[in-house]
Amino acid sequence: MKKNLPDKAGHFGIFGGRFVPETLIYALDELGKEYAASKRDKKFRKELSDYLSEYAGRPTPLYLARRLSRYLGISRVYLKREDLLHTGAHKINNTLGQVLLAARMGKRRVIAETGAGQHGVATATVAALFGLECDIYMGSEDIKRQALNVLRMKLLGAKVISVESGTRTLKDAMTEALRDWVTNVRHTHYIIGTVAGPHPYPMMVRDFQAVIGKEARQQILRKEKRLPDYLVACVGGGSNAMGLFHPFFNDKNVKMIGVEAAGLGLSSGKHSASLVAGSPGVLHGCKSDVLEDKFGQIKNAHSIAAGLDYPGVGPEHAYYKEIKRAVYAAVSDKEALEGFKLLSEVEGIIPALESAHAIAYLKKAGRAVNKNSIVILCLSGRGDKDLHESH
Ligand SMILES: *Cc1c(COP(=O)(O)O)cnc(C)c1O
Repeated sequence: MKKNLPDKAGHFGIFGGRFVPETLIYALDELGKEYAASKRDKKFRKELSDYLSEYAGRPTPLYLARRLSRYLGISRVYLKREDLLHTGAHKINNTLGQVLLAARMGKRRVIAETGAGQHGVATATVAALFGLECDIYMGSEDIKRQALNVLRMKLLGAKVISVESGTRTLKDAMTEALRDWVTNVRHTHYIIGTVAGPHPYPMMVRDFQAVIGKEARQQILRKEKRLPDYLVACVGGGSNAMGLFHPFFNDKNVKMIGVEAAGLGLSSGKHSASLVAGSPGVLHGCKSDVLEDKFGQIKNAHSIAAGLDYPGVGPEHAYYKEIKRAVYAAVSDKEALEGFKLLSEVEGIIPALESAHAIAYLKKAGRAVNKNSIVILCLSGRGDKDLHESH
């Protein structure tokens, strides 16, 4: 098993790569080069780490959830508190990294796609911070579901562009954002919000989010003098999960569990479980597991959590699944709502509905999780945005 993937062309085994129009190849190469140079540049690393600590609020706590552990009958469940970050979710780790790159490349404008609105807010936030023009693509269905985040983006000076095609959700927003980028690539940087898309995005976003796992690894070693038995995280595109998982890749005894959205049930066809119930295919510029029909048409995804409502997933997760480095499970809307209530009631922490999928998994995992174990669960975001969906 190799940790230092992808290869030069962006492949994780058979997954990843670049399936994009010719006009984007130059931009992707430019981005790849800038990213590689920045990674080696001490000044860039210091600048990013200063923004992460002074502006976003890192490091986030690794909190021992005693009452939750007791309720679940698991020795110790720790929550990695990404919900405490500025803007309320892990997304800011990535947008800060990418906006620094955009500034280095001299781009005046940034664009992004958004589902729950969390990535749109995180992008609008860093655009304001750096004085860049900002357009956010968002499905009209999500605009309705996430009115508060739409107001936030506008207040931050971004333009929210309503997408009326397809299911009017995240997939369609990403398609439109890619289209915009093809046209405006000279002065525009596209900030993709998860570990998907054409190379170098899956690698680059993973590296920016890996701060989650690096911190968690140090914190658990300090608190427990040993590594955890399980890592658990929800998987939409897969960035919070990969951010937690990746720094533990070589720790053979650390088991990884990614939790997808089973929506109204896997057999209903209304879900977003690309890894659990999908198959290899191409979506938004890379090869990974996707939800498609027998003619290769991408299907509509469904989840009560707008941030999980996507019919694809990052290619590195498809690879982890194939080599069995991680296992993937799916949790329904109804179970996620139970997880949402549970964490609120026993810990006084209202989780994002996305993160509630990971909580719900632990609740129903039964013997799949050894009770005498240490678990780190990524609490990817806070739930204020979801209050209206939850009753
Ligand atoms: C966007 C989002 C997710 C899903 O995205 P990943 O790339 O899978 O992490 C999960 N939780 C929250 C709170 C989000 O905002």
